[in-house]
Amino acid sequence: MNEKSYCPACHETQKQLRGEKGDFKVYVCQKCGTLYIAGKKAATSFNYDDYYDEGNLAIPDFVERRLTEIVRSFEKYRQNNRFLDVGCGAGTLLKAALNEGWQAEGIEVSRSSVEFLRKQGMKVFHGDLSAAQFSEGSFDVAAAAEILEHIPEPINVLKEIYQVLRPGGLLWATTPHGKGASARLLGVRWTCVAPPEHLHLFSVKGIKNLLEEAKFRNVRISTQGLNPFEIIHTLRNGKVLQAENKEINKMDERAFNRYETSYELNASLSASALRRAVKNLLNRMLDTSRLGDSLKIWAEK
Ligand SMILES: [Zn+2]
Repeated sequence: MNEKSYCPACHETQKQLRGEKGDFKVYVCQKCGTLYIAGKKAATSFNYDDYYDEGNLAIPDFVERRLTEIVRSFEKYRQNNRFLDVGCGAGTLLKAALNEGWQAEGIEVSRSSVEFLRKQGMKVFHGDLSAAQFSEGSFDVAAAAEILEHIPEPINVLKEIYQVLRPGGLLWATTPHGKGASARLLGVRWTCVAPPEHLHLFSVKGIKNLLEEAKFRNVRISTQGLNPFEIIHTLRNGKVLQAENKEINKMDERAFNRYETSYELNASLSASALRRAVKNLLNRMLDTSRLGDSLKIWAEK
């Protein structure tokens, strides 16, 4: 039942085997280029309950600054002042939104994360978006950072987000890019090819198709180098792998070290105005060439 036979982004059945990772086969969609997995284990069997602990809930300063910038970019959508973070994880974006005066709340499947955030007084629903039963048109902005790649049928959550946004509201999302430089150069060795956590890595064409199927308008997608959530995610990933699978861990160690290098690079690139300018230029080049490893998505209801 879990041997997915069609692309999760465009529903095409023609696919080509890209490689194997663990028990999983990684395919590339022949129509839109999205990478997706199929394998023996249930895609939904991954247990997110203890996904977070104190180690991976601690966030570096430069990431926090970047999150504030991101939240400030949502300003023109502020009408009823309600902000939803779908898959709020360590709560970093929620915190940034609260600091900027939004009435912000989150949805999260990881129990440890929910407990951690509630202790700090944040409003977080434990479970899936559909179970939270928000009224239609509740939110100005919904964020979905690094979650679409985890969800077996991403079209469903996109339709649900569309429902809970007010007309003209914004969906802002990030997810790894299945046709970026790392996916092309490293193939299944790329750390983001990480089943059963990551079930699909979208192409620009694939995610655009999916957003339009969910009826979003004014869809804008850029491809960039690293994004703050990818950093958070990779930190978390390394931890999970260390704790749960020594075999994968061995394989992943090099990749994780490579990530640490880029993390330091990102931190030092954020350090001064000149460096920030260089970084922006690099990101623009990655975007123009569509080779960035991260997809950033803006879509309106
Ligand atoms: Zn496809």
